[in-house]
This record gives sequence, C-alpha cells and structure tokens, in this order.
Amino acid sequence: MAEVLVYVDHVDGAVRKPTLELLTLARRIGEPVAVALGGGAADTAATLAEHGAVKVLTHEAAEYADYLVVPKVDALQAAVAAVSPAAVLVPSSAEGKEIAARLALRIGSGIITDAVDLEASDEGPVATQSVFAASFTTKTRVAKGTPVITVKPNSAAVEAAPAAGAVEALAVSFSALATGTKVTGRTPRESTGRPELTEAAIVVSGGRGVNGAENFAIIEALADSLGAAVGASRAAVDAGWYPHTNQVGQTGKSVSPQLYIANGISGAIQHRAGMQTSKTIVAVNKDPEAPIFDLVDYGVVGDLFDVVPQLTEEVKARKG
Ligand code: FAD
Repeated sequence: MAEVLVYVDHVDGAVRKPTLELLTLARRIGEPVAVALGGGAADTAATLAEHGAVKVLTHEAAEYADYLVVPKVDALQAAVAAVSPAAVLVPSSAEGKEIAARLALRIGSGIITDAVDLEASDEGPVATQSVFAASFTTKTRVAKGTPVITVKPNSAAVEAAPAAGAVEALAVSFSALATGTKVTGRTPRESTGRPELTEAAIVVSGGRGVNGAENFAIIEALADSLGAAVGASRAAVDAGWYPHTNQVGQTGKSVSPQLYIANGISGAIQHRAGMQTSKTIVAVNKDPEAPIFDLVDYGVVGDLFDVVPQLTEEVKARKG
C-alpha cells in the first residue's frame, strides 16, 4: 500500500488536532507516515501511532525553532525522497500553506490548498475545495508529481486507529536558505484562554449589530459558555470593536467549525466566504430578510441583546 506523508504540527511534542484529522484522511489514501520536526519531535510518536501512523520520521535541530519554514521544507523534501509517497498532507495554517507551497515548487509537483475533504481514486487523491467565495464546491486532482495538499482544520473526525508508529530518524541536510533568516525578536500575544479561531470546533461571531466594542462582552460570554472562539465581521473590525486577527471572511480567516453562530451579521458574500463550510450555522438577526438566513440551519429573528444572553444562560444551565 502506498505511503502518505503527514506533516506534524506540534508544540514541544504535543500534537495539534488538525494533524490528527490529517491522519484520518491519509488512511483513506494509503498508509500514513508522519514527519515530526524540532524540539519534542520524538514525543509525538505515541499520539501519532494511536491515530494511525505506521511510521514516524523525526528530526530535531535548532534550525526548526521560531517558526522558520525553510528548514522544514528541507526536511519534507528529504522525506519525500526517502519515502516516494502517494501524497503529502499539510495542515492549512498560514505556516502550513507556506511550507506546502515551497515544497511543491522544490519537488516540481502540483499543489491543492484549503481542501475540506479527500478521497482515493485510481488516478490519485481527489480533494474537495470550496471556491469563489464558497459559490462552488470543486473536486480537484494533482496531475503533476507528488500531490501536495493542505487541508483545513475540522475537515475530518479524529479517529483512534492504533498502528505501529515506529520511530525512525530522518536524515536532513539543510540548504543555505535554511540559515538565511533569523528571528530577532518576539512579542507573545496575550492569551484569551479561548481556542485558536481557525481550529475551534465552535465559533461565535459578532457583526455591526453588536454596536460597540464594549458589547462584544456578550458575544464573548456566549463563546466562553460553549468553549468557543470569537469571530467578527469586517464591519465590526473596521469599527475598531474587535481585533483584525479575529476577522472571518474573504480578507480575514477562513473557518470550518462544527457550529458557527453569527450574531448581528447580515451575511455578505465576503463574510460567507470565510464560514460557509461550517457544519451547522446559526444566526441571530433582527431583520427577517437578512441574507444570512439563506444559509443557516437554525435562525433566530430577534434582538441579539435579548437573545444572546438568554442563550448563554441556557447553555450554562444545561452544563449544570
Ligand atoms: P452589516 O452588513 O451592516 O449587517 C449588520 C446586521 O446586523 C444587519 O443584518 C442587521 O439586521 C443586524 N442587526 C443590527 N442590530 C441588531 C441587533 N440588535 N440584533 C440582531 N441583529 C442586528 N466582510 C467580512 O465580514 N469579512 C471579510 O473578510 C470581508 N472582506 C471583504 C473584502 C472586500 C474586498 C470587500 C469589498 C468587502 C469585504 N467585507 C468583508 C465586507 C462585507 O461586504 C460586509 O460589508 C460586511 O461583512 C458587513 O458586516 P456585518 O454583517 O457585520 O454588517
């Protein structure tokens, strides 16, 4: 059976959920071989084996620190040469997409980004993508080289599938480019304690209807009751009510959670582009004609200042 390389996104050995989702998808195409790089790489092996990795290729070196991508591209290129995989899967984070694009160029292969599903075919893996501001769903296949595919978080379930997970050292020699960039300073962002927006299973967003930075407290309260991330429309971001890092949409982040709750958001095409692939969509809007109601699974016509606090209390009450 063909092997499929899975790039492991981890923090000091703790594997992030999108990588476990990639292992689920990789098993549809072949045998997953994980590539874990940097400090704690070997510590990822047990988790990766539990989720289907037949092999874990590891390499630890100081060059991988500080989110520099070229050393990781060098390592993946070495892994491709060693394994001759049927495909390379990478999480669709900002870092993952840069790594994937550079890798595809290096190995002369086609690339598919932001896939939301993957299936096997006789001609190679077929990726599902949501394109043109989510107006169409396409099925695409790489026709040249080893397919490099980035997959959006929450595109597949995390499944237990115990496998050998044999750890093997990967031989990597770094290119001159790998040491050409150095990080000279770092300012950690204040942690909100909430999940990362693009990886969250639930996202609660607020738009112009929230009507002020201070009112985002009710959006945050609902998010916190659900363990969700907070998103915002561009109108809310442009008004200075919420940071741009939380903007959902064409010029913001693209999210695909299990549940997306839009509050006081009209549903403009550019907002939809970033959330339309959410599994279940709920909207609270006082205008029954708001376009967001065309794509919701559940809609509440009402004032968000009445509805959202009640929803928060109900969630808290049900949690006990
Ligand atoms: P509005 O369209 O003003 O809608 C506010 C809604 O709140 C209305 O439906 C109203 O009925 C409702 N409302 C008001 N008060 C209440 C209340 N008390 N209770 C309940 N409901 C209430 N937008 C994005 O979001 N993300 C992007 O990435 C993005 N990129 C863009 C890129 C380009 C090139 C362009 C041209 C535009 C982009 N936009 C983007 C902007 C987009 O076109 C819309 O202007 C924006 O999404 C509108 O935000 P909104 O829905 O919050 O505001």
